[in-house]
Amino acid sequence: MELVVDSGVKKMEGEAMRKNQTLICAPIMADSVDQMLILMQKAKISGADLVEVRVDSLKSFNPRPDIDTLIKQCPLPTLFTYRPTWEGGQYAGDEKSRLDALRLAMELGADYIDVELKAIGEFNNALHGNKSAKCKLIVSSHNYESTPSAEDLGNLVARIQASGADIVKFATTAQDITDVARVFQITVHSQVPIIAMVMGEKGLMSRILCPKFGGYLTFGTLEVGKVSAPGQPTVEDLLNLYNFRQLGPDTKIFGIIGKPVSHSKSPLLYNESFRSVGFNGVFMHLLVDDIANFFRTYSSLDFAGFSCTIPHKEAALDCCAEIDPTAKAIGAVNCIIRRPDGKLFGCNTDYIGAISAIEEGLQGSQPSISGSPLAGKLFVVIGAGGAGKAIAYGAKEKGARVVIANRTYERARELAIVVGAEALSLDELSNFHPENDMILANTTSIGMQPKVDDTPISKEALKHYSLVFDAVYTPKITRLLREAQESGAKIVTGVEMFIGQAYEQYERFTGLPAPKELFKNIMSTY
Ligand code: NAP
Repeated sequence: MELVVDSGVKKMEGEAMRKNQTLICAPIMADSVDQMLILMQKAKISGADLVEVRVDSLKSFNPRPDIDTLIKQCPLPTLFTYRPTWEGGQYAGDEKSRLDALRLAMELGADYIDVELKAIGEFNNALHGNKSAKCKLIVSSHNYESTPSAEDLGNLVARIQASGADIVKFATTAQDITDVARVFQITVHSQVPIIAMVMGEKGLMSRILCPKFGGYLTFGTLEVGKVSAPGQPTVEDLLNLYNFRQLGPDTKIFGIIGKPVSHSKSPLLYNESFRSVGFNGVFMHLLVDDIANFFRTYSSLDFAGFSCTIPHKEAALDCCAEIDPTAKAIGAVNCIIRRPDGKLFGCNTDYIGAISAIEEGLQGSQPSISGSPLAGKLFVVIGAGGAGKAIAYGAKEKGARVVIANRTYERARELAIVVGAEALSLDELSNFHPENDMILANTTSIGMQPKVDDTPISKEALKHYSLVFDAVYTPKITRLLREAQESGAKIVTGVEMFIGQAYEQYERFTGLPAPKELFKNIMSTY
């Protein structure tokens, strides 16, 4: 079952399927050696290539027998790390015992050991040149505050290299997603094997795209939230969500730009669809503060296509060299494509997605009537942001009489003027019912996880509506939709809009027809 390759790293059968050599390392943190052994088995089953034994997490530690057991009984190659508190770890004891334990791990057959740059001089002195040929020495540096300039990172890498490292490792902290670009730049030009990570949610890209830029390994946790450093994805997500083994230098980068963004199901939908047709792309959550700065920093053709969500849909307009006329009329872009000449093209697929889902909801099992079932209806849109603009514009196009209610009344008024609608403040909404059989569309984030008990309108007022739509899709059935159903209205969920808007984006991203049944299957579990 096992193959041993010249790097000394044990590899498993089936790896011929890999398109890259970047390893996935599962950090093992536990109170006892026995618990660590259980986690090591889990790591193997999860598909990790090696484990990082975080010795500093052990509550009691007897170096020789414990290291021996951990190495001998581990089904995967081992990396021993004994992180001191002064470098972000848990070990607060004396330095000599710590470095002795790492030397022992080397002697007893660990595949890798990690020694901090600040301790490498002392470690090397005590080693007296007796370095094991089998064990690779990772020399590491961690910055929990920020990501230094490219020049400073280059100097850091040179210092680590000069210390005798077989593998250079540095981890910095993302204050902004653009920090990751400097780390990619260092990784891609590195002459030595390098592990370079940017910690935190804004650094997620650095962990997923390692194989594209030639990183030696990335860390993947065994369980959500059980991380050894901020921002680590799970092994399962790396393998099954991001198709990690298939990534390489030519992989095109896609993502959803938003803040917040981690709730988005887009990576799930697009990555599985890319995999189904062998499309060489990866789709990620991109937590972006400043969209213009994002596009200025990531301007290469490899950054190929983007979905855009809260709060960037309007600012995205100014980033695009060309904008589809409908998106221009709506005043919001939710899909951005990089053209072969590098210029950005923006369009709006929210409009089609939401309006067709609402039309289908109105028609139900009725045979399709000529013209839109929205024609002549009183259509109330809550919200005047990107999704609100798209839906107000679409409803008007379909012949509905549109009313816009928004927290910031001024924005409702501005949008009402543009589309030819009436404006209300959010406070007026519950008492607004000039007629029955109205349609309501919530396009704000009210009711979105984690604030699932929030709702934009009183339940009492819902009896005047025959159909209620909610753009929020986490959860699928929001409080608004539940109360609308209880009041006898038809409901249309944000998931239906999500699928509808994604069809067109997928086709623009890949040039291929959207796998519609697959989209529906993937989203049916949400
Ligand atoms: P956006 O451009 O930032 O607009 C947000 C809108 O929500 C604004 O009208 C804002 O009012 C209002 N709002 C935000 N928080 C509020 C609060 N606490 N109370 C009252 N109003 C509040 O965002 P967007 O891109 O349009 O997205 C809005 C929602 O639609 C999000 O939940 C998003 O996930 C969802 N969405 C779903 C789909 C789908 O496919 N299902 C597609 C697009 C969007 P102010 O003007 O007063 O700030």
